[in-house]
Amino acid sequence: MVSFAHILTGLFWLTMVVLALGLAKRSAYWRQGQEAAFSWVSLLTVPKRYFVDLHHVVAREPYIARVHVATAGGAVAVLGLVALNYGLMLYQTWLDYVILFFALVMLAGSIAVWQRRRNAPSRLSKGAWSRLPVSLIAFSLGTAVLMITHATASVYVIAALAMVGVLLGAIEFARGIGAGGPMKHAIAGLLHLAFHPRQDRFDGKRSTDLKPLNLEKGEFGVAKPSDITWNRLLSFDACVQCGKCEANCPAFAAGQPLNPKKLIQDMVVGMVGGSDASFAGSPYPGKPVGQHSGAPDQPIIGQLVDADTIWSCTTCRACVQECPMLIEHVDTIVNIRRNITLTTGDVPNKGAEALENLRTTDTVGGYPVEVRYNWSIDLDVPVLQPGQQTDWLLVAGEGAFDMRYQRALRALVKVLKHAGVQFAVLGSAEKDCGDLARRLGDEAGFQRLAKENIALLKNLKFKRIVTPDPHVFHCLKNEYPAFGGEFEVHHHSQVIQSLMKDDRLRLKASATAMPDFTYHDPCYLGRYNGETDAPRNVLKGIGIKVVEMERSGMKARCCGWGGGSAFTDIPGEARISDMRMQDVKSTGAAKVAVACPNCTAMLEGVVGDRPDVVELAELVAERLAD
Ligand code: SF4
Ligand code: SF4
Repeated sequence: MVSFAHILTGLFWLTMVVLALGLAKRSAYWRQGQEAAFSWVSLLTVPKRYFVDLHHVVAREPYIARVHVATAGGAVAVLGLVALNYGLMLYQTWLDYVILFFALVMLAGSIAVWQRRRNAPSRLSKGAWSRLPVSLIAFSLGTAVLMITHATASVYVIAALAMVGVLLGAIEFARGIGAGGPMKHAIAGLLHLAFHPRQDRFDGKRSTDLKPLNLEKGEFGVAKPSDITWNRLLSFDACVQCGKCEANCPAFAAGQPLNPKKLIQDMVVGMVGGSDASFAGSPYPGKPVGQHSGAPDQPIIGQLVDADTIWSCTTCRACVQECPMLIEHVDTIVNIRRNITLTTGDVPNKGAEALENLRTTDTVGGYPVEVRYNWSIDLDVPVLQPGQQTDWLLVAGEGAFDMRYQRALRALVKVLKHAGVQFAVLGSAEKDCGDLARRLGDEAGFQRLAKENIALLKNLKFKRIVTPDPHVFHCLKNEYPAFGGEFEVHHHSQVIQSLMKDDRLRLKASATAMPDFTYHDPCYLGRYNGETDAPRNVLKGIGIKVVEMERSGMKARCCGWGGGSAFTDIPGEARISDMRMQDVKSTGAAKVAVACPNCTAMLEGVVGDRPDVVELAELVAERLAD
């Protein structure tokens, strides 16, 4: 006679078959993408990546992490033990009790998930995701009951009901991957950890550099979903629609037509084919869902995603930083931009003009490079010539053409001279580093500038580079090595910090107490390079108390300049710089310290009554004893 135990055995193997068929179907979608490095051996890395490397990401929300451990850990243990006891038809009563234990752990986690869903924050998607806790509870409760009754017919009705619960959960799990349900994240997430497009993220590196296109081979970015590499298509399926990217995206907060979560889900729609009508989260601001559709070989721009969505991104990496599934939104956005810029040149507003300026003058603003160091004419700063040597090469960047920022540069020179630092500048030989060209998708323009600058720098003798511009810092430090330019590059906050540490700065005895400051972290120094301490240490070193904004350090809000946003200028309901100044004001601090020419310009551009914006080097220079 067939017992409940035999039914469980049958159900287990049926689940495995459905799961395998679903995985085969889903992997066929991923395989539509372009080739990427692949090795089955990578699967062996998953346990370490999941349990060790992801720890700091998971630990950001301890309660949610514990709930996930209970729910997912319980589910994995239950499935493994059911495979053993029922899949292999051992039918050991003592194993039933072990399964019961893990089913109860999973049940506790599932109830916590359900409770959280009852007052779900707006960033969480609804729809099928709201159904998930019910399926999880049905599965864990059903399993627990079956294990108590030892899957016998002694309490026939109860066991039958429990079996229905198990069946509901099994369907959710087994069909998740093939049918694109919420549980697809479980399989896709683990595979994504193994085949992540930025493997160096698991070697303790920040890995924030954009990867070069091979222009000679005709790589011009991404026009359609099938142009995306297969492991990035896989990564989109790992998304759990938690909306942490959405909650931290400055463009979304400003009401610009971008929501990184929706963008990832649109990529899923493009990979599978269909429309965005079933998306159950917040839309792109101002763009209702249900009006866009896509297919693997159809263009992304226009029918699946509007161009202004792609141009709204400031490349601030807040989404990437927050994503618990380690999805790389910025890479995809820039890859789509690259195709637009390289094939049509259709860059909005002043973006096209800035790229044209770079092509014709090697400066973003269209200035003659000869006037870049006019601000230092009276400062007696040496221009490094081939054959000469210096300790430090000061690279001023585009801020040198801005009269406001010239004050900061002059202050930096004063600090360096005060400390007896041997340094020189590039003079009229300095071209733009190419940051803006690269973020706006002009990879050809970036590569030209990078190669020319590297050739110039390699012809000069210096030990290290210092720059006050985090975009220059990032480009030279992280993106030039791919073109053979390996230089030791420091941000000026790091250099000043080290001068202070070595007692090379003599400060005035403080006559009056310094007002409270807050500090605005530039994305390209903080999130891109992990440097949040040096500027704070400098401020502390000159007697300034920093009152932190709620969004600070790695969670800082962008000023709105990055990624060429100040040039493409996609309209929203608010300006990101105004929102950032509101963050500043809410601390009650009298002034805000900045450490980037672009943050300086964006925050100083905020009109109305607001705290003063002061550059770090200016603050230090003011405090120097004569
Ligand atoms: S990089 Fe910043 S602006 Fe772009 S999608 Fe991510 S959070 Fe939004
Ligand atoms: S943070 Fe990551 S997992 Fe969460 S919704 Fe955004 S892309 Fe998806």
